[in-house]
Amino acid sequence: MRNWKLWFKCAGIRAIKTFAQTVVAMLPAAAMISEVNWIAVLSTAALAAIASLATSLAGIPEEHIAEEGKSSRHDPGGKETNMKYTNSPLVSHVNLSPNHSGPRIYPLTRITIHCTAGRASVEGLGTIFADPARQASSQYGIGEDGRVGMYVEEKNRCWCSSSYDNDERAICIEVSSEAYEPFAVNDVAYASLIDLCVDICQRNGKKRLLWLGDKDATLMYKPKEDELVISCHRWFALNKSCPGEWLFERLGEIASIITSRLNPPVEKAPKSPAPGDGNTPHEWAEEAFRWAVKNGILRGSSAEKADYRLSDPVTREEFVTMLFRALDQK
Ligand SMILES: [Zn+2]
Repeated sequence: MRNWKLWFKCAGIRAIKTFAQTVVAMLPAAAMISEVNWIAVLSTAALAAIASLATSLAGIPEEHIAEEGKSSRHDPGGKETNMKYTNSPLVSHVNLSPNHSGPRIYPLTRITIHCTAGRASVEGLGTIFADPARQASSQYGIGEDGRVGMYVEEKNRCWCSSSYDNDERAICIEVSSEAYEPFAVNDVAYASLIDLCVDICQRNGKKRLLWLGDKDATLMYKPKEDELVISCHRWFALNKSCPGEWLFERLGEIASIITSRLNPPVEKAPKSPAPGDGNTPHEWAEEAFRWAVKNGILRGSSAEKADYRLSDPVTREEFVTMLFRALDQK
């Protein structure tokens, strides 16, 4: 049975959020208060809130999560059936946030890298995201010490990039940075970010992480099955520089390092040495070996010594000598 008290609470919170977010979204970036068409803004936002309430009648994730209670709070592996998404094994701190919208509507196609704009620990980020009043969360956070924290499971939509649409499609990672532009990230956290992105790609069957360098190009791009694209918070919040210039300038480098880690060069299997003392060929080489010895093309180091050194590399001198003998020039 539906817990109506809980439903009203969750649906109410959701509708108020929708209202507030619609108002914010409709306000031009640098508008004077007097220039804003308040009637249009408020009536649109009211409609959005009503729509949100109506959608809530169909069941809302917040309610589901609240009912799940604390038992699943520290069980990121999840007991739910039909779970397509997994979570990173690189995580060393879990503090699941109430700030998320439940399961994604769209498949995962993006990674959004954020900076914390101030040095942070995975525990500190967890405390911030645990507060419902903050209305913020990310799937992962990387602390100053390079450790990885998880706050929203990969299967769920977090509240991180000021865009419902982006959050639906992205895994958001907060990376500890300095407090001021260019919001530099230290080496340990940077290395950890690369590892985490590689892991996210691998677990989700992705072979390429792309950086297209531009908002429109990225939003218009339809990633192939095995691709993820990098998107940026700053594209959806005009007053934000996130992920900061330091990370922004490295997004191309990050994409190419990760893509090459996902596709290591195929190493040729080293040839197994000839069996035994180097004078007994593999079965596949037997006929050629006998022919070469019989015709004096392959010889030992002296007339008395039949050491053919079958596993040794051939120098250019040795090669032309064998060629010379084979063509019976002498
Ligand atoms: Zn951000």
